Amino acid sequence: MTQAAPLYIAGEWLQSGRDSSAVPDPSGLPDAGRVTHATLADLDRAAEAAADAFRGWSRMSAYDRSTLLRRAADLLRDRADPIARLMVREQGKPLAEARGEVIGAADHIDWAAEEGRRLYGRMIPARMPGVLQIARKEAIGPVAGFSPWNFPVSQAVRKIAGALGAGCTIVVKCPEETPYSCVELVRCFADAGLPAGVVNLVFGQPAQISEHLIPHPGIRMISFTGSVPVGRQLGALAAARVKRATLELGGHSPFIVCEDADVEAAIKLAAGLKFRNAGQVCAAPSRFYVHEALYDAFVDGLVTAAKAIKIGNGFEPGVTMGPLANPRRLTAMERFVADATLRGGKLRAGGRRHGSAGNFFEPTVLTDVPDDAALMLEEPFGPIAPVSAFSSLDSAIQQANALPFGLAAFAFTRNFATAEKLSTELESGMISINHFGIAAPETPFGGMKESGYGSEGGTEGMEAFVTTKFTSVLGL
Ligand code: NAD
Repeated sequence: MTQAAPLYIAGEWLQSGRDSSAVPDPSGLPDAGRVTHATLADLDRAAEAAADAFRGWSRMSAYDRSTLLRRAADLLRDRADPIARLMVREQGKPLAEARGEVIGAADHIDWAAEEGRRLYGRMIPARMPGVLQIARKEAIGPVAGFSPWNFPVSQAVRKIAGALGAGCTIVVKCPEETPYSCVELVRCFADAGLPAGVVNLVFGQPAQISEHLIPHPGIRMISFTGSVPVGRQLGALAAARVKRATLELGGHSPFIVCEDADVEAAIKLAAGLKFRNAGQVCAAPSRFYVHEALYDAFVDGLVTAAKAIKIGNGFEPGVTMGPLANPRRLTAMERFVADATLRGGKLRAGGRRHGSAGNFFEPTVLTDVPDDAALMLEEPFGPIAPVSAFSSLDSAIQQANALPFGLAAFAFTRNFATAEKLSTELESGMISINHFGIAAPETPFGGMKESGYGSEGGTEGMEAFVTTKFTSVLGL
C-alpha cells in the first residue's frame, strides 16, 4: 500500500503534515504500508465533530438512519474481496477467513440498523388521573471506541454499527497494526452518505489517544475491546468523568468434555476454535478439561488435527493458519511453552516458531500442565492448547471458575441435566454447549468478572448505547 492509511474527521480524509508509523507485514514480507497519526488538535476536532453531528443524527428518524446504515452494509458486501485482501496483508489470516469476517460485519450493520428501529420506551400507569408518564430511550451521546487488531473489521463494526444504530455518533480509534481494512470499512459508511462527523476514524499513539479522548467533554461513553490491563486503565479514565463504559476484555475460556460427550465432535470443534486466527480470539477455548474416560482419544485427536494444519501466508492456497500479529505474541508463546515444560508439562505437538521469517508459531498441544503454570493463569492469545483430565464434573467446574476471567466457556455433553448444571454454575458471560453458538449479531457478546462489563451485540448491545429519560406530564 503506497499511501499512508488516513484519518477520517468531520467528513475529511486526512494524512498530510502528520507523523506516521510503519504497518509491518506479520508474514515477514516488506511493510504493508504506513499509518497516519492523529495530533492532539485532530483528536479535539474529531470529538467536536462527533458532538456537533450528534444533535442531527440522534434526531433523525430511526427509519432514515437505518436506510443509510443498510446502504453501508451493502457497500461492505460489494467490497468484501478487496477489503479481505488488505486484511490478509496487514493481519495475516487466511483469505477465506478474512472474507468471511467482512461479510459477517455487513450482517452486524444490518442487524444494528434494524434493531435501532426497535428501541422502544414504556408508558407507565400514573397514580392520578390526567398524568402521562413516559420512559424513553435516548442515544447516550458521542462515543469513543477502541478496537483491536485480531478482527480488524468485525471488532470495529460492532462499535460503529451499534453506536450509529442507537443514534450515537462515534470517534473510533482503530488498531495501528491493521489500519487499511479499517479505513475501507469507514469508507463504506462515508460513501453511504452519512452526515459529516457521525463517524470519525483516528490512529496514533494508543495511550495518548485514550488519555485525550476519554476525558474530552464532547465524549459521553467509551467502548473498548482489548486486554484486561488496558481495559482497567480506560475504565478508570471513564469512571473519573462518570462516563459509561463497555469493556470487552480478555478471557481464558474453559472447554469441558464430559464423560458422555460425542468426542469426535468435541475434537473437531476444539481444533477449529483453538487454532482459528492463530488462537488470537478473545473467546477462543484455551483450557481443555476432558473426562478421564475420553482423555486419550481427545488428546490423540487434537494432536492429529494440530499437525494437519497448514501454516503460511494467508494468500497461499490451502493455508489454514497464518502468523501471529506481532513479535510480542511470538515471545509470549515461547515463554508459555518454556514455563509449562519446566513445570512438568508434556509437549504433544508443536511448541516452536515455524520458519525464520514472519511471526509464525506451530499449533501446539500440551498435557500435564500444572494449574500454576503461566499458560493456565494468563490469557494465551495464541495457538496453544493445554489439555487436562478430570474425574468429577464438580472439580472441572471449580477449575474452570478458578481464574478472574469470565468471557466464554464451552462444553460437550449429551445429558440435558449436565448441560443445565454447566449453564448455571460456570462463571462466564457466554456458554456454548455441543457447538459454537456465540458472536452472532443478534446475541449478546460480553464477559463477567475481569473479562469486562456490558455487551456488544443483541438487544443488550443496543441498550449499552442508550440512556433512559423519564417525563411526567399533567394535562391542564
Ligand atoms: P496491548 O494490551 O498492548 O493492546 C491491545 C489493544 O489495545 C491494541 O489494539 C492496542 O492498540 C490497544 N491499546 C493498548 N494500549 C492502549 C491505551 N492505553 N489506550 C487505548 N488503546 C490501547 O496488547 P497486544 O500485545 O497488542 O495484544 C495482546 C493482548 O491484547 C492479548 O493478550 C489479549 O489479551 C489482548 N487483546 C484482546 C483482544 C480481544 O478481542 N479482547 C483483541 C486484541 C488483543
